[in-house]
Amino acid sequence: MRDQFVLADAYGRVATDLRVSLTDRCNLRCAYCMPPEGLDWLPGDDVLTDDEMLRLITVGVERLGITTVRLTGGEPLLRKNLEMLVAGIAALTPVPEIALTTNGIGLARRAENLASAGLKRINVSLDTLDADTFAKISRRRRLHDVLAGIAAAREAGLNPVKINTVLLRGVNDHEAFDLLRWAMAEQVQLRFIEQMPLDPQHGWKRDEMITAAEIKQSLGQHVELFEDPEDALTRGSAPAELFRVAGTGYSVGIIASVTKPFCGSCDRVRLTADGQIRNCLFARTESDLRTPLRSGASDAELASLWVAAVAGKQPGHGMNDPSFLQPDRPMSAIGG
Ligand code: SAM
Repeated sequence: MRDQFVLADAYGRVATDLRVSLTDRCNLRCAYCMPPEGLDWLPGDDVLTDDEMLRLITVGVERLGITTVRLTGGEPLLRKNLEMLVAGIAALTPVPEIALTTNGIGLARRAENLASAGLKRINVSLDTLDADTFAKISRRRRLHDVLAGIAAAREAGLNPVKINTVLLRGVNDHEAFDLLRWAMAEQVQLRFIEQMPLDPQHGWKRDEMITAAEIKQSLGQHVELFEDPEDALTRGSAPAELFRVAGTGYSVGIIASVTKPFCGSCDRVRLTADGQIRNCLFARTESDLRTPLRSGASDAELASLWVAAVAGKQPGHGMNDPSFLQPDRPMSAIGG
């Protein structure tokens, strides 16, 4: 029988949720994520092939207790053979829950095939419902494609579709309630995310960030929110705190990564498109699995390197310490 380990760290946390960045490239240029000209993309040879990616995911699932695999990027829909990769992951034993985080462009024509391949959950990023604001934030006129992608995901049965929204002061922060009203009507789960210091320009400023408290206050001008009683019991490692909208069965999520970190219950580990294990979004070190993988390491050897990578996870992201340093890799190259 094959050796079985868990990805435990020194603080008693066990990583079971693997986030895989399939590419560092994106077809949007969201101002808080990427400069207009894009970034220096990873050299093609550095990026794991489909077989290499699937091999590492297999090690994670079959030897290391990974139960959820979320495919992200960059923009994961830009990865050729995504459907094949999803099908490959769905064929593993035990079958992990397969999820995708995407900007939704091109999803309209792929949602059904992705669902057939084994995709179970989807998060689509959407910061605004206004076409001009969308173009201003993302530097592309693609709001229509994103909305079509969301509709297609719903039709493909990827329900409940989750919507990730970042509010930017003076840009789209006035839209919090419009987005909530839209999400309730469309029966999608809206989750606001506090903006984190992960931009390549290193331009993030704490006092410019829209906080979870501000989001609650802004929504509170239109609807009454109260803590979701079920959420307190079932939240576990989920990053979003859920608030019930009074008089409805709807709950809106707020992810207070900066003002109310949830590192103590973190169960995530990340694999970058170039085969590096990151034990935290904010880690300043990475563990290389690509070199041993390409040098002929066995699955057991890869598993033991991965175990060591997670064992060294820090207790928290440290964003609130005066000594905090932003990681060198931006969000788009880590996998959000
Ligand atoms: N391209 C895909 C997408 O748009 O969902 C996946 C990658 S993207 C980096 C994942 C999520 O990270 C998006 O919802 C995006 O808005 C969010 N994001 C990017 N930079 C961020 C930041 N500095 N703070 C918080 N969220 C951020």
